Amino acid sequence: MKQKAKILYVEDDPSSERLVCRILQAEGFEVVTASDGLTAIETAKKELPDLILMDINISGLDGYEVTTRLRTMDDLSLVPIVAVTAATLSGDRERALIAGCTGYIPKPIDVDAFPDKIRSFLEGTREEIKSPEEKAEYLVEYSHRLVDRLEGKIRELEKSNTELQKLDRMKTDFIIIAGHELRTPLTAIYGYAQILQANPELSGSPDEAGSPGFIVQKMTEATWRLNQVVGDILNVSLIDANKLDLSMGPVRLHSLVRQAMEDIKRIGADRELFFNVTGTEDLPIIIGDSKKLYQALWNIITNAVKYTPDGGTIEIRGKTIDDAVQIAVKDSGIGIEPEDQEHIFDRFYILHDTSLHRSSKTAFKGGGLGVGLTVARGIVEAHGGRIWAESKGRDEEKLPGSTFHILLPIGNVPTEAS
Ligand code: ADP
Repeated sequence: MKQKAKILYVEDDPSSERLVCRILQAEGFEVVTASDGLTAIETAKKELPDLILMDINISGLDGYEVTTRLRTMDDLSLVPIVAVTAATLSGDRERALIAGCTGYIPKPIDVDAFPDKIRSFLEGTREEIKSPEEKAEYLVEYSHRLVDRLEGKIRELEKSNTELQKLDRMKTDFIIIAGHELRTPLTAIYGYAQILQANPELSGSPDEAGSPGFIVQKMTEATWRLNQVVGDILNVSLIDANKLDLSMGPVRLHSLVRQAMEDIKRIGADRELFFNVTGTEDLPIIIGDSKKLYQALWNIITNAVKYTPDGGTIEIRGKTIDDAVQIAVKDSGIGIEPEDQEHIFDRFYILHDTSLHRSSKTAFKGGGLGVGLTVARGIVEAHGGRIWAESKGRDEEKLPGSTFHILLPIGNVPTEAS
């Protein structure tokens, strides 16, 4: 035996790793470690240890599979591999030997006997399954287990591959739509600016189409829209990175709802929808970020407008439940299929065909960036609240409608005296 034998210890539990390393180093062994299956294989190839101590229950490839793999490598086919594991099932020892281990040490480790056991494996001790029948039985069991695990892993990979492809498609769609969403107001601003530049003598009252006041109003609306799109993009990236900063203060939700009603009337003047607001006036003041909560509410209300045809109704109801307030936005629109009701909050999730995308915040089925609900959820959750959708399904004829609920904790509102 060499002066200082090198031992590779494969273990994913840090406290076991520390204990065993300490015992082995105190006995003069050199110890290298790995905490998962693939790293164990790489480290074994690089370090060529004199013995490998293998915890069986490690992540990725487990200890049995790593052992079987190491046995196929020329440099490592003969190195002693000793399984170390908490004995949970009968036959663990036999399974370890069938996979290619030289021996088996159950956990918890007997600290006094452990160094001698390691030395004896280094000197050539090999454990064996005596009965050939038993050996054959365990071999069959092991090969079935390998095939089962392989099948499971392939299924996992196929699932994540499908998800990645979907995400990739969503990102491409997002880029196309974001370009479109930015270009629509930009084109309007540029067009109106050109009219102003070419006609410095324009005159007329602001309600006259083509007057300077009218043009400036249109440019202001387009700039506002541009600002909303950029805000949505920025917010979604902040939410993604968990970096949404809230500037907290007292918030009167009724004022936010009223403001949203005014803004909707301003930008969606041509839509024939009936709004019915109840219960928000009596809502208590809550602690939150007023601007961000407005944005969340705005995204939900403009969706209700977008997905409800003319003649429809949008109801906004407020109520207090214990130490939280709940706002429900109920529309009589096209509805949402039950299987989509959770996904619509995912970023870039758009149910319509993106090639038919129409940029509008208020037109019926006018498209958006597919991040409005992601932003709304991020904001509500950053306040410790919850947001969810309810609908019987999607039907553009029967119009089952959708309801979006926002639940927000009231928070510690300072009393006037304080
Ligand atoms: P978008 O910018 O496309 O509106 P959102 O994140 O706001 O993105 O919404 C995601 C999807 O959820 C929408 O494309 C739409 O299909 C669906 N959706 C949202 N609100 C409603 C609603 N009130 N009624 C029907 N469908 C809705």
